[in-house]
Amino acid sequence: MSQIFYSPDDNTNTIDYQSIIEEIYKEVFPLTNSGKVADYIPELGKIDPSQLGIAIVTLDGKIYETGASRINFSIQSISKVFTLTLAMKFMQNTLWEKVGKEPSGNPFNSLVQLEYESGKPRNPFINAGAITIADCVNTHSENALDTIIQLMRNLSQNLSINFDPQVAQSEKEHGHRNAALAHFMKSFGQIDSSVDELLDIYYKHCSISMNCLDLAKAFSFLANHGINPETNETFLTKSQAKRINSLMLTCGMYDASGEFAYRVGIPGKSGVGGGITAIIPNLLSICVWSPGLDKYGNSLAGTMALELFTTKTGISIF
Ligand code: GLN
Repeated sequence: MSQIFYSPDDNTNTIDYQSIIEEIYKEVFPLTNSGKVADYIPELGKIDPSQLGIAIVTLDGKIYETGASRINFSIQSISKVFTLTLAMKFMQNTLWEKVGKEPSGNPFNSLVQLEYESGKPRNPFINAGAITIADCVNTHSENALDTIIQLMRNLSQNLSINFDPQVAQSEKEHGHRNAALAHFMKSFGQIDSSVDELLDIYYKHCSISMNCLDLAKAFSFLANHGINPETNETFLTKSQAKRINSLMLTCGMYDASGEFAYRVGIPGKSGVGGGITAIIPNLLSICVWSPGLDKYGNSLAGTMALELFTTKTGISIF
């Protein structure tokens, strides 16, 4: 019984998820034009911001969707959850010699802490941390990008998932900060791969294209102690899944993680493509997408949609 998060007299069986997400869609859609698309990656700057999609997948296999839930978008930093999954699998606890577990309190692409902290990134979700994680995946697999994409196809049960070469190229051409982070870490002896090879893997995994339904499915294993509820395949141990969820709660929204935990109350991961994917343990995974971002780089309408979701349903992890 210790696995049951909700008590038997909870109301989760009677929640009308479909009506709730449709209501949220109507309330939040006007906000889609208040955010700013991530034009520091020019290819993402071309996306029409007036789009909003929501998809929910429950652990008993029910799907609820509304709006642009089947439109593909650039998952960006949401991909860091999957690279972390692989690195944890490959390296177990030795991974934490390479990357920390603390919120950074700085923007996702900041360079300042790295110098004080001898090239060891604060956590796996800021860019420096994710580049380190990509290095770990690269040194433990024959073809890192292929390993990452296969994992995501497997988790979402969608074999058509791939990266978008135009977005990857756009990131590469404008990726001076990421290149600076990678070279700086290399100078501390933190990185084993060649910087160019590593950045290529990083840009390509950030530019993977998926929709809300794919991502909600792909996160289900984190709501289910590391086991994909659709296929019963084990991806991580129960303890490892707990640790990823803990890191998402504390670091998943960068320097707005505290605000997100306060407003929404569930672990999630955002990306500058405008997606946020989150989970409620033992119950469901949810993905929202709206490309307009707040000043921290998190989807503005998406955050509001998730806040309304936990408020209207009365379910969170607390
Ligand atoms: N690829 C993006 C970058 O490196 C990822 C950032 C994000 O989604 N927060 O800047």
